[in-house]
Amino acid sequence: MHIEFFGAAREVTGSCHILHLGGDTILLDCGMIQGGIEREARNADPFPFDPRCIDAVVLSHAHIDHCGRLPLLVKHGFKGSVHTHQASRALTSILLRDSANLAASRARHAESSPDETSKEGPLYDLRDVERTLPMLIGHPYRHWFDVLPGVKVRFLDAGHILVSGVVEVHLHQSDTHRRIVFSGDLGQYDSPILRDPESPREADLVVMESTYGDRRHKDRARSLLELGDLIRDSDTNRSTIVVPAFAVGRSQELLYQLGKHAGEWALHRWEIFLDSPLAIEATAIYWRHQHLFDEEADALRREFESMPELPNLHFARTADESKRISRLGKGAIIIAGSGTCGGGRILHHLKIMLSDRENHVLFTGYQPPGGLGRRLIDGADKVWIHGQSVEVNAQIHTIGGLSAHGDYEDLLRWYRGIQGKPPVYLVHGDPAAMQALQFRLTTAAAKVHIPEPGERISF
Ligand SMILES: [Zn+2]
Repeated sequence: MHIEFFGAAREVTGSCHILHLGGDTILLDCGMIQGGIEREARNADPFPFDPRCIDAVVLSHAHIDHCGRLPLLVKHGFKGSVHTHQASRALTSILLRDSANLAASRARHAESSPDETSKEGPLYDLRDVERTLPMLIGHPYRHWFDVLPGVKVRFLDAGHILVSGVVEVHLHQSDTHRRIVFSGDLGQYDSPILRDPESPREADLVVMESTYGDRRHKDRARSLLELGDLIRDSDTNRSTIVVPAFAVGRSQELLYQLGKHAGEWALHRWEIFLDSPLAIEATAIYWRHQHLFDEEADALRREFESMPELPNLHFARTADESKRISRLGKGAIIIAGSGTCGGGRILHHLKIMLSDRENHVLFTGYQPPGGLGRRLIDGADKVWIHGQSVEVNAQIHTIGGLSAHGDYEDLLRWYRGIQGKPPVYLVHGDPAAMQALQFRLTTAAAKVHIPEPGERISF
């Protein structure tokens, strides 16, 4: 038996690990590589295996860097089942459809580009997605199920986004018994809405994410104070607040916090817009699964009967509804995609509001180097949006502490919950974050290894 690290090896995205079990092969995740044109071009590289020979896929959660290449796998002949949490199927559906639509619009854009190298068609289309979705089989947390003869799997709560899973794999083949744990992405302890990450009791081998293996997050309470001060102290006759939003996870946490603090932050003075069809769909799925929320959210739900309790919250589904927000003028809090300002409706809002010094842009998540969001955080006084030069006078804020990934204290706490100091293989992190976590884990773990892309480990 061995495991091969195909994706998210010494990098953050493209999660995909291959379990070879005698004659059977199982994929843990089949995610998209993200982060700039050059890196993303690798998504079109052939798989290092024949997709027709993969027996099953186990999917930790719906984020596109974990599920985004599933339709490509199906396009190339995969015919097995994809096991995931039962409510994760709904989130995976909207994210994969969005991914196909995005690929189609990029391909259309490339068609009109003079650059011949960019003219390859989309990786997959909506038909591939629609063929993939019926293959998803849902399971509740903590319920063992058979993936193949001799291979049992169950999901524990990873506390990262709604229904994200830690994957436990138990293998029984002839006299051999092995327990593999794949962390998926791990959330922060004590974050709102989501329950805390669960540690499995035992493991022989742990494959663990390390995104923030070198970082401590800003205190959540301090972040909320900053957010409250900004909203309360801004003049609704003169200001607009724009928040670049990540559709699944961060948008719902933000709405939850706005609902919870509506009175305290005097939110009745503002009109609040969720301007992202994907975030609107994801929010509906979140609110439909409130029975999976943590105790604090549960108590709030009982108090208000519905959530979020924001009578002045508006959903902008169509492009026309989005344009009407811009014409509203001042007094709006606009939560719009994409979170990294790499595209989407946020660009239209930024183009209109950046030049006014009374306006605010509020960043709640990681901004990749070279992107528009990072340039704004770094203090650029002029940026280019849609081929137009825009002066930056608006006030730029970063609110830390709302990350969907745990910091190194969270990661260590999760690992320490597993008995017996099992060996750890670090994935899903930049090399510096991995090395920092490796150093911190060495006192707690028997062995910590950072696999190379394509490396095979026998167990
Ligand atoms: Zn994730």
